[in-house]
Amino acid sequence: MPSLSESTQGKLQQLMPGSVIGIVGGGQLGRMMALSAKYMGFRIGVLDPTPDCPAAQVADFQVTADYDDRSAIAELAQRSEVLTYEFENVDADALDLVADTVAIPQGTDLLRVTQDRIHEKTFINQHGIGTAPWRAVNSLPELRSALEEIGYPAVLKTDTGGYDGHGQVVLRSADDLARLESVSADDFPPSILEGFVDFAFEASILVSGNGSDYVTFPIVRNIHKNNILHVSLAPAVISDETSRIATDLALRLADGFKLAGTLAIELFVLRDGSVLVNELAPRPHNSGHYTIEACSIDQFDAHIRGIAGWPLPQPRLLSPAIMVNVLGQHVPAVRAAIATHPTWNFHDYGKAEAKHNRKMGHITILGDDPESLADEAEATGIWDDLK
Ligand code: AMP
Repeated sequence: MPSLSESTQGKLQQLMPGSVIGIVGGGQLGRMMALSAKYMGFRIGVLDPTPDCPAAQVADFQVTADYDDRSAIAELAQRSEVLTYEFENVDADALDLVADTVAIPQGTDLLRVTQDRIHEKTFINQHGIGTAPWRAVNSLPELRSALEEIGYPAVLKTDTGGYDGHGQVVLRSADDLARLESVSADDFPPSILEGFVDFAFEASILVSGNGSDYVTFPIVRNIHKNNILHVSLAPAVISDETSRIATDLALRLADGFKLAGTLAIELFVLRDGSVLVNELAPRPHNSGHYTIEACSIDQFDAHIRGIAGWPLPQPRLLSPAIMVNVLGQHVPAVRAAIATHPTWNFHDYGKAEAKHNRKMGHITILGDDPESLADEAEATGIWDDLK
């Protein structure tokens, strides 16, 4: 596993307005990072293969090429003072190659750890933080013996490349294992087997840093449908002790990474109030979009301030809130709802095509009680397909 090297992260200098921040990836997270950066007076370059992608619409320039196109990364680096990324599956070696040309305050070790589940879980456990029990498995015989140790039910996940439940199989019994017996040895991807966690609910916490100081955001409860985040409720209803445990582990991980920018930590909250970490995302996160309206500083501002080496204020929740995702199939009904819902904050990512299950935007609603806000949203029927 990579160790965090001073040389890759370098010493953070404070970045001044007018400087160019290059973002690898031009989706909604890049767009919202860019919007924050623009308020602060930075200029933005985006690397993304899709012309007029969401981030490019609010950026100063786009390098239109694949994320792993090394000459395109070199061009973005050449034209920027600082590079950041909006997703974890970036070619870390390609970024290392341009580390002489441009500052990469997040470093590339953060990427290497978070893009591989074995590295990620090892890092988390080494910092004294619990995860579901897990074993690395690279073949059917290894899977069989891991199942003997971990038992059913269990979840088999590919080491790399999985997101929103892709590359995952739940094994509930020997019948499910039998279905995998036909996978040939050559086709068995490097994977991990995890014990299935009987959680009370899922939650997440964001932590932002500037390389030496770290601040955490309020903990939110997340409800997924078809493995895609549907609603986040802020704040999560948890005991002070659970909140303290989650905040403490977030600060420990941030310090372990010498974090610059925003890191999201997905959690399982168990019935006894204890917490396990599910996974990490080295960037702002869908479950943190509520911070734009509901917090004193949002996750994108904190990300930009962090990579710019600026000091970070402690985020405060200004109002309870919910965030509901708008997927492709919800777009017509959500657009119709604009006329009748003045208290809904509509965000649209400017994507050209509204495909089924594609994240097209989100809505944030502030109020006194997140549960009733969620009921209000569900009562419209817009999200009935997810029931
Ligand atoms: P992941 O891609 O690892 O975030 O997993 C996607 C979703 O699958 C999570 O948000 C959980 O709802 C579910 N999940 C993943 N791992 C486990 C586990 N070990 N136990 C129970 N549910 C899980």
